[in-house]
Amino acid sequence: MKKIIVLGATGSVGTQALDVARKEGYAVTALSANRDVDSVEKYAREFNVKACAMADEGSANALKCKLSDTDIKVYSGDKGIVEMINDTDFDTAVNSTLGMAGLMPSLAVVSKGKRLALANKESMVIAGEILNRVAKENRAEILPVDSEHCAIHQCLKAGEKREVSRLILTASGGPFFGKKTSEIKKMTLDDALAHPTWKMGAKITVDSATLMNKGFEVIEACRLFDVPHDKVDVVVHRQSIIHSMVEFCDNSVMAQLSVPDMRFCVQYAVNYPDRCEGVTEKLDFFNIPSLTFDKPDTEAFPLLAKAYHAVKVGGALPCVLNAANEIAVAAFLSKKISFADISELVISAVDSLENDAKNAEALDEILAFDSLGREHVRNIISRAK
Ligand code: MG
Repeated sequence: MKKIIVLGATGSVGTQALDVARKEGYAVTALSANRDVDSVEKYAREFNVKACAMADEGSANALKCKLSDTDIKVYSGDKGIVEMINDTDFDTAVNSTLGMAGLMPSLAVVSKGKRLALANKESMVIAGEILNRVAKENRAEILPVDSEHCAIHQCLKAGEKREVSRLILTASGGPFFGKKTSEIKKMTLDDALAHPTWKMGAKITVDSATLMNKGFEVIEACRLFDVPHDKVDVVVHRQSIIHSMVEFCDNSVMAQLSVPDMRFCVQYAVNYPDRCEGVTEKLDFFNIPSLTFDKPDTEAFPLLAKAYHAVKVGGALPCVLNAANEIAVAAFLSKKISFADISELVISAVDSLENDAKNAEALDEILAFDSLGREHVRNIISRAK
Protein backbone atom coordinates (compact mmCIF):
# COMPACT_ATOMS: atom_id res chain seq x y z
CA MET A 1 0.00 0.00 0.00
CA LYS A 2 1.34 3.45 -0.91
CA LYS A 3 1.81 5.83 1.98
CA ILE A 4 1.32 9.51 1.33
CA ILE A 5 1.19 12.73 3.28
CA VAL A 6 -0.81 15.70 2.03
CA LEU A 7 0.52 19.19 2.74
CA GLY A 8 -2.03 21.93 2.24
CA ALA A 9 -4.72 19.28 2.65
CA THR A 10 -7.71 21.64 2.83
CA GLY A 11 -7.02 23.53 -0.42
CA SER A 12 -8.31 22.70 -3.87
CA VAL A 13 -5.54 20.27 -4.90
CA GLY A 14 -5.21 18.95 -1.33
CA THR A 15 -8.83 17.83 -1.13
CA GLN A 16 -8.56 16.31 -4.60
CA ALA A 17 -5.43 14.43 -3.47
CA LEU A 18 -7.44 13.03 -0.56
CA ASP A 19 -10.14 11.98 -2.99
CA VAL A 20 -7.53 10.07 -5.03
CA ALA A 21 -6.31 8.47 -1.78
CA ARG A 22 -9.88 7.30 -1.05
CA LYS A 23 -10.31 5.84 -4.53
CA GLU A 24 -6.83 4.30 -4.75
CA GLY A 25 -6.67 3.10 -1.15
CA TYR A 26 -3.46 4.98 -0.29
CA ALA A 27 -2.61 5.19 3.39
CA VAL A 28 -2.57 8.87 4.38
CA THR A 29 -0.13 9.13 7.28
CA ALA A 30 -0.05 12.90 7.85
CA LEU A 31 -1.78 16.14 6.90
CA SER A 32 -0.94 19.80 7.14
CA ALA A 33 -3.03 22.93 6.64
CA ASN A 34 -2.98 26.57 7.58
CA ARG A 35 -5.99 27.16 9.85
CA ASP A 36 -9.00 25.08 8.78
CA VAL A 37 -9.19 23.03 11.99
CA ASP A 38 -12.61 21.43 11.34
CA SER A 39 -11.64 19.99 7.96
CA VAL A 40 -8.29 18.70 9.24
CA GLU A 41 -10.01 17.00 12.18
CA LYS A 42 -12.51 15.36 9.83
CA TYR A 43 -9.81 14.10 7.43
CA ALA A 44 -7.50 13.03 10.27
CA ARG A 45 -10.23 10.77 11.67
CA GLU A 46 -11.33 9.51 8.27
CA PHE A 47 -7.82 8.46 7.22
CA ASN A 48 -6.65 7.56 10.71
CA VAL A 49 -3.46 9.57 10.22
CA LYS A 50 -0.47 9.46 12.56
CA ALA A 51 0.12 13.21 12.62
CA CYS A 52 -1.25 16.62 11.63
CA ALA A 53 0.33 20.05 11.50
CA MET A 54 -1.27 23.49 11.46
CA ALA A 55 0.82 26.43 10.27
CA ASP A 56 -1.21 28.77 12.46
CA GLU A 57 -0.30 28.15 16.10
CA GLY A 58 -3.70 29.01 17.54
CA SER A 59 -5.28 26.54 15.10
CA ALA A 60 -2.76 23.89 16.17
CA ASN A 61 -3.88 24.32 19.79
CA ALA A 62 -7.53 24.08 18.81
CA LEU A 63 -6.82 20.90 16.82
CA LYS A 64 -4.92 19.38 19.76
CA CYS A 65 -8.06 19.78 21.92
CA LYS A 66 -10.33 18.31 19.26
CA LEU A 67 -8.09 15.28 18.74
CA SER A 68 -7.33 14.73 22.44
CA ASP A 69 -9.28 11.43 22.41
CA THR A 70 -6.89 10.04 19.74
CA ASP A 71 -3.15 9.38 19.65
CA ILE A 72 -2.68 11.59 16.59
CA LYS A 73 0.29 13.87 17.13
CA VAL A 74 -0.34 17.56 16.37
CA TYR A 75 2.52 19.83 15.28
CA SER A 76 2.41 23.60 15.33
CA GLY A 77 3.76 26.39 13.11
CA ASP A 78 5.91 26.34 9.98
CA LYS A 79 8.70 24.59 11.88
CA GLY A 80 6.18 22.03 13.12
CA ILE A 81 5.27 21.11 9.53
CA VAL A 82 8.93 20.38 8.76
CA GLU A 83 9.26 18.36 12.00
CA MET A 84 6.19 16.35 11.07
CA ILE A 85 7.71 15.57 7.65
CA ASN A 86 10.92 14.42 9.35
CA ASP A 87 9.11 12.27 11.94
CA THR A 88 6.47 10.61 9.74
CA ASP A 89 6.77 7.53 7.55
CA PHE A 90 5.64 8.02 3.92
CA ASP A 91 6.58 7.28 0.28
CA THR A 92 5.25 10.43 -1.39
CA ALA A 93 4.42 13.90 -0.13
CA VAL A 94 1.78 15.76 -2.12
CA ASN A 95 2.69 19.38 -1.50
CA SER A 96 -0.24 21.61 -2.36
CA THR A 97 0.64 24.33 0.14
CA LEU A 98 -0.10 27.83 -1.14
CA GLY A 99 2.78 30.15 -2.01
CA MET A 100 6.17 30.67 -0.42
CA ALA A 101 5.09 28.68 2.66
CA GLY A 102 5.50 25.50 0.57
CA LEU A 103 9.24 25.87 0.05
CA MET A 104 10.64 24.60 3.36
CA PRO A 105 8.28 21.57 3.38
CA SER A 106 9.40 20.75 -0.21
CA LEU A 107 13.04 20.91 0.85
CA ALA A 108 12.32 18.74 3.90
CA VAL A 109 10.69 16.06 1.73
CA VAL A 110 13.55 15.80 -0.76
CA SER A 111 16.17 16.03 2.02
CA LYS A 112 14.57 12.90 3.42
CA GLY A 113 14.98 11.19 0.03
CA LYS A 114 11.23 10.85 -0.47
CA ARG A 115 9.18 11.52 -3.59
CA LEU A 116 7.80 15.02 -3.86
CA ALA A 117 4.53 15.30 -5.80
CA LEU A 118 4.75 19.02 -6.32
CA ALA A 119 1.64 21.14 -6.66
CA ASN A 120 3.38 24.06 -4.93
CA LYS A 121 4.99 25.51 -8.08
CA GLU A 122 6.35 28.39 -5.98
CA SER A 123 8.98 26.01 -4.57
CA MET A 124 10.41 25.62 -8.08
CA VAL A 125 9.99 29.31 -8.93
CA ILE A 126 11.69 30.58 -5.76
CA ALA A 127 14.50 28.07 -5.31
CA GLY A 128 14.25 25.47 -8.08
CA GLU A 129 17.99 25.10 -8.49
CA ILE A 130 18.47 24.43 -4.78
CA LEU A 131 15.49 22.08 -4.62
CA ASN A 132 16.82 20.07 -7.59
CA ARG A 133 20.29 19.87 -6.07
CA VAL A 134 19.04 18.65 -2.70
CA ALA A 135 16.76 16.14 -4.44
CA LYS A 136 19.67 14.81 -6.49
CA GLU A 137 21.94 14.54 -3.46
CA ASN A 138 19.30 12.51 -1.64
CA ARG A 139 18.03 10.55 -4.66
CA ALA A 140 14.57 11.98 -4.26
CA GLU A 141 12.26 12.25 -7.25
CA ILE A 142 10.18 15.33 -7.98
CA LEU A 143 6.97 14.63 -9.91
CA PRO A 144 4.91 17.63 -10.99
CA VAL A 145 1.28 17.98 -9.93
CA ASP A 146 0.56 20.78 -12.36
CA SER A 147 -1.44 19.66 -15.38
CA GLU A 148 0.98 21.18 -17.91
CA HIS A 149 4.11 19.72 -16.35
CA CYS A 150 2.45 16.39 -15.76
CA ALA A 151 1.67 16.38 -19.50
CA ILE A 152 5.25 17.27 -20.44
CA HIS A 153 6.58 14.59 -18.09
CA GLN A 154 4.55 12.06 -20.08
CA CYS A 155 5.34 13.49 -23.54
CA LEU A 156 9.10 13.47 -22.84
CA LYS A 157 8.95 9.68 -22.74
CA ALA A 158 8.65 9.71 -26.53
CA GLY A 159 12.31 10.62 -27.14
CA GLU A 160 15.72 11.40 -25.71
CA LYS A 161 16.42 14.67 -23.95
CA ARG A 162 18.90 15.75 -26.65
CA GLU A 163 16.13 15.30 -29.24
CA VAL A 164 13.75 17.79 -27.59
CA SER A 165 13.48 21.05 -29.52
CA ARG A 166 10.91 22.78 -27.30
CA LEU A 167 8.32 22.40 -24.59
CA ILE A 168 4.93 23.89 -25.45
CA LEU A 169 2.86 24.84 -22.43
CA THR A 170 -0.83 25.29 -23.11
CA ALA A 171 -2.69 28.10 -21.36
CA SER A 172 -6.45 28.47 -21.03
CA GLY A 173 -5.87 32.21 -21.38
CA GLY A 174 -7.93 32.92 -18.26
CA PRO A 175 -11.20 34.88 -18.09
CA PHE A 176 -9.77 37.97 -19.85
CA PHE A 177 -8.49 36.27 -23.00
CA GLY A 178 -8.96 38.45 -26.08
CA LYS A 179 -9.54 41.64 -24.07
CA LYS A 180 -7.54 44.78 -24.72
CA THR A 181 -5.40 46.51 -22.09
CA SER A 182 -8.02 49.27 -21.75
CA GLU A 183 -10.81 46.73 -21.09
CA ILE A 184 -8.69 44.71 -18.65
CA LYS A 185 -8.19 47.85 -16.55
CA LYS A 186 -11.91 47.85 -15.74
CA MET A 187 -12.13 44.22 -14.63
CA THR A 188 -13.37 43.50 -11.11
CA LEU A 189 -12.60 40.81 -8.55
CA ASP A 190 -15.67 38.79 -9.58
CA ASP A 191 -14.61 38.97 -13.23
CA ALA A 192 -11.13 37.71 -12.31
CA LEU A 193 -12.50 34.80 -10.29
CA ALA A 194 -14.57 33.40 -13.17
CA HIS A 195 -12.13 30.91 -14.71
CA PRO A 196 -13.36 29.28 -17.94
CA THR A 197 -12.18 25.68 -17.47
CA TRP A 198 -10.52 24.95 -14.10
CA LYS A 199 -12.04 25.17 -10.62
CA MET A 200 -9.23 26.35 -8.34
CA GLY A 201 -8.49 28.48 -5.27
CA ALA A 202 -8.84 32.29 -5.46
CA LYS A 203 -5.09 33.06 -5.56
CA ILE A 204 -4.30 30.81 -8.52
CA THR A 205 -7.48 31.90 -10.32
CA VAL A 206 -6.29 35.52 -10.17
CA ASP A 207 -2.82 34.36 -11.28
CA SER A 208 -4.50 32.73 -14.27
CA ALA A 209 -6.31 35.96 -15.13
CA THR A 210 -3.02 37.95 -15.16
CA LEU A 211 -1.15 35.04 -16.86
CA MET A 212 1.28 35.20 -13.90
CA ASN A 213 0.41 31.55 -13.33
CA LYS A 214 1.58 30.72 -16.85
CA GLY A 215 4.71 32.75 -16.22
CA PHE A 216 5.42 30.74 -13.08
CA GLU A 217 4.82 27.59 -15.09
CA VAL A 218 7.42 28.67 -17.66
CA ILE A 219 9.94 29.02 -14.82
CA GLU A 220 8.77 25.74 -13.30
CA ALA A 221 9.21 23.97 -16.66
CA CYS A 222 12.75 25.34 -17.16
CA ARG A 223 13.75 24.02 -13.76
CA LEU A 224 11.86 20.75 -13.61
CA PHE A 225 13.02 19.63 -17.03
CA ASP A 226 16.35 21.48 -17.15
CA VAL A 227 15.69 23.41 -20.36
CA PRO A 228 16.58 27.05 -21.16
CA HIS A 229 13.78 29.65 -21.23
CA ASP A 230 13.99 30.03 -25.01
CA LYS A 231 12.97 26.40 -25.42
CA VAL A 232 9.69 26.90 -23.59
CA ASP A 233 6.74 28.35 -25.52
CA VAL A 234 3.19 29.16 -24.48
CA VAL A 235 0.16 28.52 -26.70
CA VAL A 236 -3.32 29.62 -25.65
CA HIS A 237 -5.65 26.65 -25.89
CA ARG A 238 -9.01 27.69 -24.46
CA GLN A 239 -10.50 24.23 -23.96
CA SER A 240 -7.84 22.79 -21.58
CA ILE A 241 -8.02 19.38 -23.26
CA ILE A 242 -4.41 19.29 -24.45
CA HIS A 243 -2.46 19.86 -21.26
CA SER A 244 0.88 20.55 -22.94
CA MET A 245 3.16 19.29 -25.70
CA VAL A 246 6.75 18.45 -26.52
CA GLU A 247 8.24 19.12 -29.94
CA PHE A 248 11.18 16.96 -30.99
CA CYS A 249 14.02 17.80 -33.40
CA ASP A 250 12.24 16.05 -36.29
CA ASN A 251 9.25 18.42 -35.77
CA SER A 252 7.09 15.64 -34.39
CA VAL A 253 4.91 16.93 -31.56
CA MET A 254 3.66 14.77 -28.70
CA ALA A 255 0.60 16.01 -26.82
CA GLN A 256 -1.14 14.73 -23.71
CA LEU A 257 -4.92 14.93 -23.61
CA SER A 258 -7.38 14.21 -20.82
CA VAL A 259 -10.38 15.82 -19.16
CA PRO A 260 -9.28 18.80 -17.05
CA ASP A 261 -9.16 17.16 -13.61
CA MET A 262 -6.22 17.55 -11.22
CA ARG A 263 -6.92 14.19 -9.63
CA PHE A 264 -5.29 12.57 -12.67
CA CYS A 265 -2.06 14.48 -12.01
CA VAL A 266 -2.03 13.37 -8.36
CA GLN A 267 -2.66 9.76 -9.33
CA TYR A 268 0.09 9.88 -11.97
CA ALA A 269 2.62 11.44 -9.59
CA VAL A 270 1.98 8.95 -6.79
CA ASN A 271 1.79 5.81 -8.96
CA TYR A 272 4.60 6.67 -11.42
CA PRO A 273 6.10 4.72 -13.20
CA ASP A 274 2.99 2.53 -13.02
CA ARG A 275 -0.34 3.46 -14.52
CA CYS A 276 -3.50 2.37 -12.76
CA GLU A 277 -7.17 2.42 -13.63
CA GLY A 278 -8.35 6.02 -14.04
CA VAL A 279 -9.90 7.92 -11.15
CA THR A 280 -11.09 10.56 -13.61
CA GLU A 281 -13.50 10.38 -16.55
CA LYS A 282 -12.51 9.19 -20.01
CA LEU A 283 -12.19 11.78 -22.72
CA ASP A 284 -15.30 11.69 -24.89
CA PHE A 285 -14.05 12.80 -28.31
CA PHE A 286 -17.52 13.27 -29.72
CA ASN A 287 -18.50 15.66 -26.98
CA ILE A 288 -15.51 17.95 -26.71
CA PRO A 289 -15.50 21.38 -28.35
CA SER A 290 -13.23 22.15 -31.30
CA LEU A 291 -9.66 22.62 -30.18
CA THR A 292 -8.26 26.09 -30.82
CA PHE A 293 -4.77 27.60 -30.55
CA ASP A 294 -3.81 31.27 -30.18
CA LYS A 295 -0.77 33.39 -29.44
CA PRO A 296 -0.61 34.82 -25.91
CA ASP A 297 -0.94 38.61 -25.78
CA THR A 298 2.12 39.67 -23.77
CA GLU A 299 1.23 43.34 -24.14
CA ALA A 300 -2.12 42.97 -22.39
CA PHE A 301 -0.61 40.44 -19.95
CA PRO A 302 2.91 41.73 -19.26
CA LEU A 303 3.58 39.37 -16.35
CA LEU A 304 4.11 36.46 -18.71
CA ALA A 305 6.97 38.32 -20.42
CA LYS A 306 8.32 39.37 -17.01
CA ALA A 307 8.51 35.73 -15.94
CA TYR A 308 10.63 34.86 -19.00
CA HIS A 309 12.87 37.78 -18.11
CA ALA A 310 13.12 36.71 -14.46
CA VAL A 311 14.18 33.14 -15.23
CA LYS A 312 16.65 34.37 -17.85
CA VAL A 313 18.29 36.72 -15.32
CA GLY A 314 18.06 34.07 -12.58
CA GLY A 315 19.40 34.48 -9.04
CA ALA A 316 16.66 35.66 -6.73
CA LEU A 317 14.68 37.48 -9.43
CA PRO A 318 12.05 34.72 -9.83
CA CYS A 319 11.72 34.83 -6.03
CA VAL A 320 11.10 38.59 -6.15
CA LEU A 321 8.50 38.03 -8.87
CA ASN A 322 6.65 35.55 -6.67
CA ALA A 323 6.95 37.58 -3.47
CA ALA A 324 5.67 40.78 -5.09
CA ASN A 325 2.85 38.87 -6.73
CA GLU A 326 1.76 37.22 -3.46
CA ILE A 327 1.36 40.61 -1.80
CA ALA A 328 -0.26 42.26 -4.83
CA VAL A 329 -2.80 39.45 -5.30
CA ALA A 330 -3.66 39.44 -1.58
CA ALA A 331 -4.28 43.20 -1.82
CA PHE A 332 -6.46 42.70 -4.90
CA LEU A 333 -8.43 39.91 -3.18
CA SER A 334 -9.10 42.26 -0.25
CA LYS A 335 -10.12 44.99 -2.74
CA LYS A 336 -7.28 47.35 -1.82
CA ILE A 337 -5.94 47.62 -5.38
CA SER A 338 -7.32 47.21 -8.90
CA PHE A 339 -6.65 44.33 -11.27
CA ALA A 340 -4.29 46.43 -13.41
CA ASP A 341 -2.34 47.42 -10.29
CA ILE A 342 -1.23 43.80 -9.79
CA SER A 343 1.04 43.77 -12.85
CA GLU A 344 2.24 47.31 -12.27
CA LEU A 345 3.31 46.54 -8.70
CA VAL A 346 4.98 43.26 -9.58
CA ILE A 347 6.90 44.80 -12.47
CA SER A 348 7.98 47.70 -10.28
CA ALA A 349 9.39 45.29 -7.67
CA VAL A 350 11.22 43.17 -10.24
CA ASP A 351 12.69 46.19 -12.03
CA SER A 352 13.90 47.91 -8.89
CA LEU A 353 15.45 44.80 -7.30
CA GLU A 354 16.89 43.21 -10.42
CA ASN A 355 20.44 44.47 -10.09
CA ASP A 356 20.89 43.23 -6.55
CA ALA A 357 18.86 40.04 -6.92
CA LYS A 358 20.58 38.61 -9.97
CA ASN A 359 23.65 37.36 -8.12
CA ALA A 360 21.91 35.72 -5.16
CA GLU A 361 22.61 31.99 -4.92
CA ALA A 362 22.33 30.63 -1.38
CA LEU A 363 18.95 29.97 0.18
CA ASP A 364 19.28 32.67 2.85
CA GLU A 365 20.20 35.25 0.19
CA ILE A 366 17.19 34.27 -1.87
CA LEU A 367 14.91 34.42 1.16
CA ALA A 368 16.16 37.93 1.93
CA PHE A 369 14.90 38.98 -1.51
CA ASP A 370 11.54 37.41 -0.73
CA SER A 371 11.21 39.94 2.11
CA LEU A 372 12.45 42.82 -0.05
CA GLY A 373 9.97 42.01 -2.82
CA ARG A 374 7.09 41.94 -0.36
CA GLU A 375 8.21 45.14 1.31
CA HIS A 376 8.51 46.97 -2.01
CA VAL A 377 4.88 46.23 -2.91
CA ARG A 378 3.54 46.90 0.59
CA ASN A 379 5.28 50.30 0.66
CA ILE A 380 3.75 51.39 -2.64
CA ILE A 381 0.28 50.26 -1.55
CA SER A 382 0.48 52.06 1.80
CA ARG A 383 1.85 55.23 0.18
CA ALA A 384 -1.04 55.26 -2.30
CA LYS A 385 -3.63 55.29 0.50
MG1 MG B 1 -1.11 24.52 -14.40
